[in-house]
Amino acid sequence: MSTEKNSKPRRHFASDNYAGIAPEAWAALQEANADHEPAYGNDRWTQRAADAIREVFETPCEVFFVFNGTAANSLALAHSTQSYHSVLCHEVAHVERDECGAPEFFGNGSKLLLLPGDQGRLTPAGIEDAVLRRTDIHYPKPRVVTVTQATEVGTLYSPAELRAIGAMAKRHGLRFHMDGARFANAIAALGCAPREITWQAGVDVLCFGGTKNGIHVGEAVVFFNQELAREFDLRTKQGGQLCSKMRFVSAPWLGMLRDNVWLRHAGNANRMASLMHGLVKDLPGVKVLFPVQANAVFVDLPKPVIEALWARGWLFYNFIGEGGCRLMCSWDTTEEDVRSFAADLAAACATHAK
Ligand SMILES: *Cc1c(COP(=O)(O)O)cnc(C)c1O
Repeated sequence: MSTEKNSKPRRHFASDNYAGIAPEAWAALQEANADHEPAYGNDRWTQRAADAIREVFETPCEVFFVFNGTAANSLALAHSTQSYHSVLCHEVAHVERDECGAPEFFGNGSKLLLLPGDQGRLTPAGIEDAVLRRTDIHYPKPRVVTVTQATEVGTLYSPAELRAIGAMAKRHGLRFHMDGARFANAIAALGCAPREITWQAGVDVLCFGGTKNGIHVGEAVVFFNQELAREFDLRTKQGGQLCSKMRFVSAPWLGMLRDNVWLRHAGNANRMASLMHGLVKDLPGVKVLFPVQANAVFVDLPKPVIEALWARGWLFYNFIGEGGCRLMCSWDTTEEDVRSFAADLAAACATHAK
């Protein structure tokens, strides 16, 4: 990101975190602010939010609310490994690229092993390869496989692909972790039941993203493997992730999960990305880098085009995932926002990319 100097107040495509708080999450916060309640998660809101999450997944599971995705992933992975273990992840995974070493830090040195894979996705064969490559005592023993759904490059694993990864994990005694910072976008796009791509595919623990979906702060760590959840409350406390006024992290989930609000907001983000894709894919100089399956469009743009857009005040990143420009749509992105950006992009391409 460069020239912020010309930026005006408007909705950008840099990150779904640029968006504000969804009105339903805001209303639930307000509702939770009515009176005194017990602290540290022993309040009615937290109990009800955890129950609402259990309803979404249609199964008993243990739910913990933490402040952000880095903590959710790092603590969940640390809880799934010993320090001499390794975690198999995609080479562009958020846990590898964007968490400042937190998974290794909280795992006391448990190592991330990077696997290649087309379009941001791991494959069962790639996982098996990494497990069988070395089985001697000198190698950090693979203990967990982690996938990101939707992926860092805006693609999706199908339920069948996740089942195959789950089966491979089981065959080799690996735990199965899912980074679901954009889990809502995945469910909205796939149209499947949340259980189909989580516990029914063998997922032990899901980091269920709330922030990018429209909550002010917070992610839910959802353990389908309840034995694995043992003492995770202590880990969140030690990790500085136990909120004393927990109800203000948990209550917004009630507002979002009620009446499928979370899927409506995620669906809007996905639809806006699809509209963006349609408007820009055939412009001269534009190369779409990945299939658009959730709420991100990755494009290669000529440098002068990028600079012209930045000069017009548009904010977007050009270093995420495998490079290229990432155009990320949010719960509140409008058709007008997309058309306005696409028109500026078309004009810049006409001038600079003939
Ligand atoms: C945003 C994101 C996270 C969470 O990041 P925080 O900034 O720590 O909340 C985790 N995984 C992925 C794939 C993300 O995009």
